[in-house]
Amino acid sequence: MSSEMNSDRAATTMAVPVSASVTEDKIADDDALPLIRLRGVTKQYGSGQAALMALKGVDIDIHAGEFVAIMGPSGSGKSTAMNIIGCLDTPSGGEYLFQGMHVEALTRDQRARLRRRYLGFVFQGFNLLARTSAQENVELPLLYRGESPANRHRLAAKALASVGLAGWEHHTPAELSGGQQQRVAIARAIVTEPAVLLADEPTGNLDSQRSREIMELLSRLNQEHGITIMMVTHEPDMALYAKRIVRFVDGLLDTDTINPHPVAISPADIPADTAAAAGGATCS
Ligand code: ADP
Repeated sequence: MSSEMNSDRAATTMAVPVSASVTEDKIADDDALPLIRLRGVTKQYGSGQAALMALKGVDIDIHAGEFVAIMGPSGSGKSTAMNIIGCLDTPSGGEYLFQGMHVEALTRDQRARLRRRYLGFVFQGFNLLARTSAQENVELPLLYRGESPANRHRLAAKALASVGLAGWEHHTPAELSGGQQQRVAIARAIVTEPAVLLADEPTGNLDSQRSREIMELLSRLNQEHGITIMMVTHEPDMALYAKRIVRFVDGLLDTDTINPHPVAISPADIPADTAAAAGGATCS
């Protein structure tokens, strides 16, 4: 079979809900099926004397609608686990199931499709294209997905509005504050309506006020839009916005606790700089 046919088949598989491609008994048990399940996941970098076990057998279930903060010392395996869950890397051993589908058995192409269809990413450094408007940055994932220009325009404008940036569509990153740039990055991550948002230290480059605003926005996306969020953070204050806090130590899950009182979000979450400037922005 040609690789083109393989990739066509992958496209068909990924175009339908993943649960439709799992076995009958898994469908019957759908309620209990976690969105993400890691079982005995290991990751080895290098080999021989240089071998390093970054993950030593991680078990975790993440259900749809959860907001999980991932903490732990530097080098404990947080990014490695996020990269595996984000289909950016593969485990050396163990199982990774996404809605019951064995991700570790997928081809590179299939993993890329899963990533584009179901996962959104937010990084510490925003990772926006510098000389490109907010609107065009947010349209990018839709371009990869083959959306028409009209749809790209409409969906990106809607995503920017949902992060409080209506009126800022034509600004480039240099014309935006750090908090606003992270909002653009979040709009870019949610414009494809992913099931899971993976955020790697999303407030790491922001002052405390902007950090709180970004956390309120993430909480709102979780609570009001049902997006499952996994967020790596070093900051205990930011972790307290999550409903569950897991801690990695030395390549293993050390603690996994429910946060009974996540930080409450305010009803109107339009940050001061955005509200003031949007009032004066020319949107013509
Ligand atoms: P954390 O995100 O908790 O800081 P990482 O997952 O980045 O931890 O790293 C876990 C361990 O794996 C560390 O010892 C790190 O040096 C090592 N590591 C991470 N990525 C690589 C890589 N690409 N090659 C070799 N070692 C790596």
